[in-house]
Amino acid sequence: MQKPRPGGVFTLWLSFNGRLFGGKRRAQMKFVDEATIRVEAGKGGDGCLSFRREKFIPKGGPDGGDGGDGGNIYMVADEGLGTLVDFRHKRLFRAKNGRPGMGRRRTGRAADDLRVKAPLGTLVYDADSGEMIGDLTRRADKLRVARGGFHGLGNARFKSSINRAPRQTSKGGPGEARNLRLELQVLADVGLLGLPNAGKSSLIRAVSAARPRVADYPFTTLYPSLGVVRTGNEKSLIMADIPGLIEGAGNGAGLGFAFLKHLARTRLLLHIVDASPPPAEVIHNIKTIDRELRRYNAAFGQKPRWLVLSKSDLRPPPMMAALKREIQAGYNEDIPVYTASAVSGAGCRTLILSLGQWLQEQSGASER
Ligand code: GDP
Ligand code: MG
Repeated sequence: MQKPRPGGVFTLWLSFNGRLFGGKRRAQMKFVDEATIRVEAGKGGDGCLSFRREKFIPKGGPDGGDGGDGGNIYMVADEGLGTLVDFRHKRLFRAKNGRPGMGRRRTGRAADDLRVKAPLGTLVYDADSGEMIGDLTRRADKLRVARGGFHGLGNARFKSSINRAPRQTSKGGPGEARNLRLELQVLADVGLLGLPNAGKSSLIRAVSAARPRVADYPFTTLYPSLGVVRTGNEKSLIMADIPGLIEGAGNGAGLGFAFLKHLARTRLLLHIVDASPPPAEVIHNIKTIDRELRRYNAAFGQKPRWLVLSKSDLRPPPMMAALKREIQAGYNEDIPVYTASAVSGAGCRTLILSLGQWLQEQSGASER
């Protein structure tokens, strides 16, 4: 059976937004992940000064070999990466130097190039001049960002009819060094939902390794909050707290449309519920959001959604377990329920690992 595609509905929202923003159709809200790194290519190996020295040949000719070229640095597009978060941990990339030349005209070994993986879609700028160096928009794109130094020449090269014993060599050239600004437009994988004060922003802060910026943002009062969440080695996801959903969005009050449009593109909704009120109230709060969501659009009701009982530090664990059971009995038996505290960090890791795993399974399934 083919899954229904909600595309038609979203197109409708887009055109509605087109009118909302003065006729100019506005593309999806842009989130920009950024990183600044430094790349230093390898220096070229120096040329060698040497003369042939062999028994019975007193005055051997020059035989100093050339050095090897320094290593270049390339950035390569890697589809497995989704964000620039790994560049927060490693910011300096250095290629090796070429080896110097040696006697008997032996050439020094050229250094291997260094390949730095970046997500597909990354734009690469020179951070100092602002100039765009290139982009990695196609699969396996490769961009040289720092050129290795040219090799030095050995004295064997300088031999001529008028100079049979040159002492001249040249040094290897310096490798290019640059500061780069990387920029990547990201989409949110996980959208947060919840009443005001449910703990959405706090949760994002607690689990994020980096905070992408929002480009091109049409609103000034409500600002989405974004986080890049590391879920494993070279694995990360983008979580977005789009404010304004409940503040009048469901009945078409305007602002919310743009936010919802964005949420529509996320793969999973995390419904954040403050676990500290009495259970009946918690369940009521869950249902409030649920209703808003469905009222807004039936497709949203079908989007994968998990519940997160937030502020779990405010309740002893047995009470959290009881609350979970009551929710399953009084609201929905099947919805996955997690607990988390942005204050103590309890439950955050389990939640993140589950999200990472779920998203990975989903993308695996959609590729097949
Ligand atoms: P949002 O409106 O959903 O973004 O909620 P906030 O993240 O701004 O949190 C609302 C209030 O709840 C703030 O006063 C937070 O300090 C508090 N809060 C958020 N998360 C926790 C938590 O895990 N434990 C406790 N004790 N308080 C929290
Ligand atoms: Mg908030």
